[in-house]
Amino acid sequence: MGANDNKLTLDYSVVVRLSALGVSLCKENARMMAGVTPGSGGCWKWPRHTMPNGYGQTQYGDRVISAHRAVLCMVTGATMDIPMDACHRCDNRGCVNPDHLFWGTRLTNMRDCMAKGRTKKSHKPSKESASVAEMLITKG
Ligand SMILES: [Zn+2]
Repeated sequence: MGANDNKLTLDYSVVVRLSALGVSLCKENARMMAGVTPGSGGCWKWPRHTMPNGYGQTQYGDRVISAHRAVLCMVTGATMDIPMDACHRCDNRGCVNPDHLFWGTRLTNMRDCMAKGRTKKSHKPSKESASVAEMLITKG
């Protein structure tokens, strides 16, 4: 670190939007948002470490947390211990555009997922388990 502190590149539209949201671009925040670039669909692409599950990861305070959670904390002024899930409206896990993020409970997050058809459970196992049970019965 240190050496790169003077080379923070902040996208102009990112700065404009964050300022409009009342986010002060102190050194800490500026460092986090450095390199974030608006892409397709207005999504802000996380430029640094991304976890295998698609979520960005960043240092926030003295901890490492999801990048979109960190950004939502920064924008809403919430602490990172807020007992809510940082959710995406845009379904793009690598996106850190605060306009695409919202605090949801586990329940609203699940409902959101269901509405988007991500956790749709198929309703066919009953037939299969019945036939398995029948087999067991006929086998004695
Ligand atoms: Zn997005």
